[in-house]
Amino acid sequence: MSSRLGPTESFRGRRMNLLGIPKKIDFESPASWLSRAALSQGVSIKEFRKFITLHQKADADMAFTQKYVRHVAKVTNQAARDFEFVQYVLTSLRILDRHGGEYLLGDNLNARYRFCPVCLAEQRIKVFALEWRFKAWRWCPLHQCMMRDRCPHCRAFPTLPGDMLNAGLGRAGIATLDRCLCCGELLETGWQSVMNTFDSSLLNPWGEALMNNGRAVLSALACRKIRIKGEEGEFSLSALRRIQRYGLLPHGHIASVHDEAV
Ligand SMILES: [Zn+2]
Ligand SMILES: [Zn+2]
Repeated sequence: MSSRLGPTESFRGRRMNLLGIPKKIDFESPASWLSRAALSQGVSIKEFRKFITLHQKADADMAFTQKYVRHVAKVTNQAARDFEFVQYVLTSLRILDRHGGEYLLGDNLNARYRFCPVCLAEQRIKVFALEWRFKAWRWCPLHQCMMRDRCPHCRAFPTLPGDMLNAGLGRAGIATLDRCLCCGELLETGWQSVMNTFDSSLLNPWGEALMNNGRAVLSALACRKIRIKGEEGEFSLSALRRIQRYGLLPHGHIASVHDEAV
């Protein structure tokens, strides 16, 4: 980038590949990274999408195919390997669920996420993990707590990518993704009191099995094979499709232990 040009001028002029884009965190969802990347350039998501040739109506997570990752990494000066994990998981998902409509929360225009308030409180760089977009990811195994569906202050559902530049109260903007895009307050408020509150004994055996299967979804997508309790050996990814058809994934309400949306 020329020293005579500010980031926004350079961006608008499309003179060269972008500099100063935050590094994508390994497990971070593409939509989370896009939100931070647009902010780093002082532009809206709409403008940033244009630059990286991401269709305005495309699902910002599902769009990250191997070919697209190569393009985005090049124009944003990122290492393609930083996208490897999410690209692999999303490629597995596409085999099962071409557009993500069955496994992911929200749709391409309104990609919704849950979040673990303890994870957000502990992260040095605040990001949304790819697994947080999965319907089946209902509790955080790191902190033994249920995921939150809504901002604890204004009750808005987190959706990404978000225009951080104009987010929050009075469109004053938010600097980090642990703030609500609607009201600007901290999403992790009260995180200390939710740590280690998930108690599987509160669930009936059916609910517990659903929760465990839900967690297995992500490891199945990451490894492209799945182990089923009570059955020997490993199964291919298509076994996951069968499990889903039998209603064995926590895609609906599980139990009245939590104020959750599905
Ligand atoms: Zn957590
Ligand atoms: Zn809020």
